[in-house]
Amino acid sequence: MFDRVLVANRGEIACRVIRTLSRLGIRSVAVCSEADRGALFTRLADQVIEIGPAPARESYLRADRVLEAAKQSGAQAIHPGYGFLSENAAFAAQCAAQGVCFIGPSPSAIAAMGMKDAAKVAMEQAGVPVVPGYHGEAQEPELLAMQAARIGFPVLIKAVAGGGGKGMRRVDRPAEFLAALEGARREAAGAFGDERVLIEKYLTRPRHIEVQVFADRHGHAVHLYERDCSLQRRHQKVVEEAPAPGMPSEMRAVMGDAAVRAALAIGYEGAGTVEFIADVSQGLDPERFYFMEMNTRLQVEHPVTERITGLDLVEWQLRVAAGERLPLDQAQLNLHGHAIEVRLYAEDPAQEYLPQTGPLLALQMPAESAHVRVDTGVVSGDSVGIFYDPMLAKLIVWDLDREASARQLRKALAQVEVLGLKTNAALLARVAAHPAFLAGDVHTGFLSEHQAALFADDAARDERTLVLACAGLLETRRQKAACARGASGVSPWDALDGFRVNEGRQESWCLRLGDAPRSVSVRHEGDTIRLREGARAWQLRDVTLEGTALSLLSNGERLRGHYAERGADLHVSFAGHSDVLEHPWVERARDRSAERGESVIKAPMPGKIIGVLVTARQRVSVGTPLVRLEAMKMEHTLKASMDGVVSELSAQPGEQVEAGGTLLVLKASEEGSP
Ligand code: ADP
Ligand code: ADP
Ligand code: MG
Repeated sequence: MFDRVLVANRGEIACRVIRTLSRLGIRSVAVCSEADRGALFTRLADQVIEIGPAPARESYLRADRVLEAAKQSGAQAIHPGYGFLSENAAFAAQCAAQGVCFIGPSPSAIAAMGMKDAAKVAMEQAGVPVVPGYHGEAQEPELLAMQAARIGFPVLIKAVAGGGGKGMRRVDRPAEFLAALEGARREAAGAFGDERVLIEKYLTRPRHIEVQVFADRHGHAVHLYERDCSLQRRHQKVVEEAPAPGMPSEMRAVMGDAAVRAALAIGYEGAGTVEFIADVSQGLDPERFYFMEMNTRLQVEHPVTERITGLDLVEWQLRVAAGERLPLDQAQLNLHGHAIEVRLYAEDPAQEYLPQTGPLLALQMPAESAHVRVDTGVVSGDSVGIFYDPMLAKLIVWDLDREASARQLRKALAQVEVLGLKTNAALLARVAAHPAFLAGDVHTGFLSEHQAALFADDAARDERTLVLACAGLLETRRQKAACARGASGVSPWDALDGFRVNEGRQESWCLRLGDAPRSVSVRHEGDTIRLREGARAWQLRDVTLEGTALSLLSNGERLRGHYAERGADLHVSFAGHSDVLEHPWVERARDRSAERGESVIKAPMPGKIIGVLVTARQRVSVGTPLVRLEAMKMEHTLKASMDGVVSELSAQPGEQVEAGGTLLVLKASEEGSP
């Protein structure tokens, strides 16, 4: 076994790998970019080597610097985590050439699976069923369009070099094919430096079921059962579970065999995942699942497999890489209970899951227990930047069966607190309580199919946010006043229990929550604060604010959350939900455009304009796509929020824009028309 291992990754997965290294008594070496100085994973590691500036291209993707760090530290092996260099055959070859062990399969196995087209050919030859489609060399648009017509719409265009759901476009009609092809190519070229695509029959309401495999260099291969990763947004997983709901044991055996056959066919070594798509229009059917791709690395969702098998997959990776045999054979493996993982992202589900960046004013995760595991790479006070994936944490729950496991998930999600950034926690909580999810009726279109229920407004939640905001405001003001008095010597007023500066006085505040102005009246009576909004009234008692932790009784109900003021913003979070309100008395440089009947379209994050889809003076209606922005390796389409006319157009194709930069202005139609 190795004495010293370098972890060529960041964030939660670097923390995860380091945890196993330290348990096994292996020294850990972290590499980090300038942006990650002081990040959690660098604090867990025994040694840290800085390898370059924030952009991954200049740090985490620099094979030469990573190898140099390995040499410098004397690391005998490199664990690549997922993403970055983990599926880079050239890097694996360089490691071998320099006498450093790459913890993963051989360069040839990575190469065999690295490109989705070649992988499909190899799998067809190994007798593994693949999704019907076109995966040939020729890439002329007309030829691809003909192939799409032959396959039959809807089809899916996929980047041959793709990963993470990027470079993928669903096409429903022949007329939309060429535009979609262009988009897929552009995204693929940007993210992978390779614009080649393949075309597949698009299955409707399918399930994504993948099999974890493991192989050693002594010719043994096993599977560690399946995971269902059907709950996705933007073709990216958000909820993953093991075992797959409703999986009959015969089908599990058939899929496991197919996955092991796939691994053996390419001389695989180490951990890998064979991803299948299952046509479940006739239920789970051993005749209707197809190979999609193989990921030749540890997967984000590996913890659910660890929970149901009781194994540490990183330990297995280390053992296999060190030349040992697989610790167990197929007959010794067992599946116990049910595990579910959710990925907590800094993103705004209401804005097409737009990634959010900025400081984490407070971050609180559920306590770990026999039922709950939390894998994260960030702590309170860290910032989420534009350079890396916006995943904050993974919550993994386990219990004896799926129903109990889902209950654990709801409980864990209610304990998540993220103050300062929008997250998908509240959406995940709704998924975990949705009857279709509980019935096991999952498929890749789940989030859009149940959009109405999952994204519905929640008046009760908004009320609690409002109450917490008011209590936070009052308590912050009281603490500041007490502080000011304290500074000028002991005040006899402090001795007066229950005394309030504003006793008896009624104040009226307007706080803006989302787009809605909320007018509340506030009055102190002894140790009670009376809040009123229209016909609704709340009595607040027992308010405490320590740091950002806020607690109070609202009409007898205990509310616990987090609160912080930053300039004119009030940040409030509770039970997985977070919001920003406008401060009622701190003046903000207010955007008056709406009052003028205008809508100013701004860049939501720094990025590059890759398409301006309208012209000056063009008439548009709500939802018309206006500008396409590439940011964080994804394309985002900004749409019109009202009917109107393009009155100013400053966005230029190819231009780099800052967050908040004005791209164009819409004017209400009446005024804009001549
Ligand atoms: P798939 O490639 O099938 O989506 P996963 O669900 O395991 O597989 O997701 C891996 C993806 O996570 C990578 O393709 C990459 O886009 C992203 N990623 C890479 N590195 C990191 C990281 N350090 N932290 C978070 N996400 C990452
Ligand atoms: P990536 O490398 O980006 O992970 P995959 O080929 O694994 O790409 O596909 C990602 C997701 O896209 C799948 O999990 C599934 O939801 C969807 N998908 C892929 N192929 C198909 C298909 N042929 N029909 C319908 N959905 C598909
Ligand atoms: Mg995939």
